[in-house]
Amino acid sequence: MSNLASIAAALKECTTVLISAHKNPDGDALGSQLGLMLALEKTGKTVTAHNLDAVPEIYRFLPQSDRIKIGKPVQDRYDGYIVVDADPPRTGLFDKTYPADILINIDHHITNPLDWPLTWLDTDACATGEMVYKLIQELGVGIDRDIALCLYTAIFTDTGSFRYSNTTPESMRIAASLIEAGADSWLVTENVYESFSFPRLKLLGTVISNMERNGTGRTAWVVVTDELYRQTGTKAEDTDNFVNFVRSAKGVEVAVLFRQTGSAQYKISMRSKGRVDLSGLAQSLGGGGHKNAAGSVLDGSIEEVKKRVLGEVEKTIAAQLGSGGTIPDGRRS
Ligand code: 5GP
Ligand code: MN
Repeated sequence: MSNLASIAAALKECTTVLISAHKNPDGDALGSQLGLMLALEKTGKTVTAHNLDAVPEIYRFLPQSDRIKIGKPVQDRYDGYIVVDADPPRTGLFDKTYPADILINIDHHITNPLDWPLTWLDTDACATGEMVYKLIQELGVGIDRDIALCLYTAIFTDTGSFRYSNTTPESMRIAASLIEAGADSWLVTENVYESFSFPRLKLLGTVISNMERNGTGRTAWVVVTDELYRQTGTKAEDTDNFVNFVRSAKGVEVAVLFRQTGSAQYKISMRSKGRVDLSGLAQSLGGGGHKNAAGSVLDGSIEEVKKRVLGEVEKTIAAQLGSGGTIPDGRRS
């Protein structure tokens, strides 16, 4: 049996199901989680959704997003536990013991260590939402308007609005069928990309005006500190996608966002333009992700974390692309 068929069979044995996504959930995590929750409920199961972190404002339009329970601990036991869009530890909810006998992991990150026997990993899937779409079909559940909206959001956000190289004919076909099933594409666009708060846009302006690049111009980065959040009245979720503006600079191969998460702790988000594979580097820094989008959380002062990460990034670029020259115009910023 394929992993997809095994998971569908295992789910048939469950009456109560818990579904979690990763910390700091994004559109794919939440769309996959809620789409699967709604589909399993249509088969008569009792489903609970539970994440460590709250649903960011821009994703609150997703159907039933207010039902997602937040934070630790998770009290009850369930027949089945499904982790979507991450390897199980990245839910941040459990320390190796999980509240169910049947454990299912559905993910598309190449760095997933396949810890659970019932892991379905498809690194060619543009989004976990694409995999959930196939699972729902395997279960024989009809895709209604709400499920379609959730899965469309998952695919739309993880493909960068169908711009990234993970966009395939299949992902577009699935997205088309989700629009046919009632997903409103403008509703998704407006909520996710055209509803930024003023403080968020002001933060973006400040952050980008302090953007830096190294001597070769192939690495560029920005830093968001707690102090900056305080000054602008913003929070971590307001920096989502900032790193993509940094990557958009001509000549930049890898962009890095350093975001303060503790007095001496920083979350890094790395983005490649496609010629440099970042997944191994992210893993060696204790994190994970995809070829073109990966991240980790590192302890240390901003100087220490920047020195380590930027050094490793340049080494990775040099190993994969050869050594680079200096910025043609000679300007550093
Ligand atoms: P982002 O930079 O948007 O937080 O994440 C980019 C990609 O890397 C996402 O696919 C995300 O799941 C993955 N990623 C980010 N941070 C971590 C981390 O600390 N651990 C792991 N395993 N993956 C991460
Ligand atoms: Mn994803």
